[in-house]
Amino acid sequence: MSSSEQSGTGAEDQMSPSDIAALEAAFMEMLSSLEQPASTTTRDTLAAKASTTKAISSKVKLGLRASDIAFPSANNIYDHSPSAAFVLDNKMLNDFALAPRDPGLQMEQSDAAVGEFMRGRSLAKGSYPNSGSAPNDRSGEDNAACLLFFGAVDDDDSVPWTFVICDPARRRFLRAHPLYKKRLFVEPHHSAIPLYIAASGVHHEGLFATRSIAKDEVLFREPPLFLIIIPLEARLAMQFDKLTREWMPKRTQAALDALHTCWPGNDRFGRARTNIIGLDLPAMPQDPPRAGTVLGGLFQLASRANHSCAANVGFDWDYKTFQGSFKANRVIEAGEEIFFAYCDVNAPKEVRREELLRKYRFKCTCTRCGEI
Ligand SMILES: [Zn+2]
Repeated sequence: MSSSEQSGTGAEDQMSPSDIAALEAAFMEMLSSLEQPASTTTRDTLAAKASTTKAISSKVKLGLRASDIAFPSANNIYDHSPSAAFVLDNKMLNDFALAPRDPGLQMEQSDAAVGEFMRGRSLAKGSYPNSGSAPNDRSGEDNAACLLFFGAVDDDDSVPWTFVICDPARRRFLRAHPLYKKRLFVEPHHSAIPLYIAASGVHHEGLFATRSIAKDEVLFREPPLFLIIIPLEARLAMQFDKLTREWMPKRTQAALDALHTCWPGNDRFGRARTNIIGLDLPAMPQDPPRAGTVLGGLFQLASRANHSCAANVGFDWDYKTFQGSFKANRVIEAGEEIFFAYCDVNAPKEVRREELLRKYRFKCTCTRCGEI
């Protein structure tokens, strides 16, 4: 057994470039013979072939293109693998300042402040109050808003990274992640993701299945374009466009700008608020009980999906691999739109409708909610 394996391996090793070229030529010949019509090519058979091709191409939708993907697209997970060891850098974690932090604005107050800001801006477009310095790197101040770049940062801007706005403690926590300075990938390769982007009957654009998708199939995995781990207060809203222009990789900016906004002003903060998905981070030592929730992450693909209270995919966030994913919760037919739920689908209809209207400014008319 082993001798035949060895001789086979040896034969491959000993193949000369001319042998390889001959094999390649034979392979190409075989391929081209497969493409030839079986019978002699008359004008009729060519015309018939052309019309068949046309009929098929008008039905079959293209999948995602490379330009739809800001992050590199891969076939293998490598060190993102869920089976890879995951060890936080404890030395980094022990650096936490344990002084209690000012909890800052509560979410309700924060929402009100942002709402006030958005209303003000829609009335006087372009007049941005100057609120002083941008969120910064003053790690000594517990309430400072900081930037963090998660992923391999490349000089030529060709390798996007997750853009994070957080507090100093959360920044240290993220820096302890084993993938902190590793390349982030969309998986599988974009050409294998069974989705395309097209106009939706529900809202603007949406994601659609290029083929039938099995129940429990994972459609894709992707890192967030950015995370916001501090309250969405007016101070941040006012500086968000400037911050992203100055610090975000160009491809991430393009992916952000491709998303819809439901807020007036057509700015990036509104776009972020419209498309952000709630995520969890592991709790940190000084977190009060129930904390440990990131306000949200924005995803180039997942954030494109429209809402339905009868969703056909579920969204999963895996902190260990730093990736969000869609998993089919039933069989999805080719051409069907992909929906996930923006709200708690177990809540009564009135509660769901109120939440969707308040956060995303639309009245849900999904198959469960029905017409208004
Ligand atoms: Zn609904």
